[in-house]
Amino acid sequence: MTLAGKTAVITGSNSGIGLGIARELARTGADVILNSFTDSDEDHQIARDVAAEFGVSARYVSADMSKPDQCRALIEKAGGCDILVNNAGIQHVAPIDEFPTEKWDAIIAINLSSAFHTTAAALPGMRKAGWGRVVNIASAHGLTASPYKSAYIAAKHGVVGLSKTTALETAGQGITCNAICPGYVLTPLVEAQIPDQMKAHDMDRDTVVREVMLARQPSKEFATVEQLGGTTVFLCSPAADQITGTTISVDGGWTAL
Ligand code: NAD
Repeated sequence: MTLAGKTAVITGSNSGIGLGIARELARTGADVILNSFTDSDEDHQIARDVAAEFGVSARYVSADMSKPDQCRALIEKAGGCDILVNNAGIQHVAPIDEFPTEKWDAIIAINLSSAFHTTAAALPGMRKAGWGRVVNIASAHGLTASPYKSAYIAAKHGVVGLSKTTALETAGQGITCNAICPGYVLTPLVEAQIPDQMKAHDMDRDTVVREVMLARQPSKEFATVEQLGGTTVFLCSPAADQITGTTISVDGGWTAL
């Protein structure tokens, strides 16, 4: 199985799951475009490191996924793409009646609307090529709810709905679209929400990890970014040609409960 000759754009890929996915796609031979909203030498170095390690072309393109025009510009600057992974995401934890409006707007823009804009920009090229893979990183929170994450949960449920619609609009055209729903993965995003969870639940760190996070996962283990990368590679493989419009949970059994 090789993805040599394919170009993959992974939004929000200078850390965490996005970088893990970019690395596994590159390991399989795909050229990769990494992205975030910053534009530092460190960001570009991440792409240089991926290129050197896997012998593929890897570029870092700065674009702010909260801005529709920059979402579309990312795909243009990539020269189109065969594989689009919509991964950029942010999180905020607070009760609905204390949830800041600007946080709600930013979460919906980055976690949900960006996937609409990049997909709209990428589909014409995929249709022309007769092959394309859109992989949207949703969440176990795209299938279930929990308190204090209203915007995130609404956005991730939206990502699942957008994925199904994209699948129906591209069925029979060599293009598939699916959503991956991870449970907890110990990335910077999750680390950053632990203090808010501690405050919202009035618990210490260990109790939050054990009773709020891992309690939801029967495996009692975090998933890894490599496992998310492997799931993405599978969805880009010929074995997954007929898998479209569905969700794949990588959550240690969370959504089976
Ligand atoms: P992370 O914070 O490590 O990664 C988020 C990425 O998005 C970073 O690269 C960040 O720079 C980027 N980003 C943030 N704002 C952006 C913007 N305006 N424009 C472009 N890029 C932006 O967190 P992560 O855990 O790796 O999250 C990646 C995705 O996985 C997110 O969509 C998240 O919701 C989802 N997810 C994570 C978990 C988990 O437990 N970590 C679980 C389920 C789903």
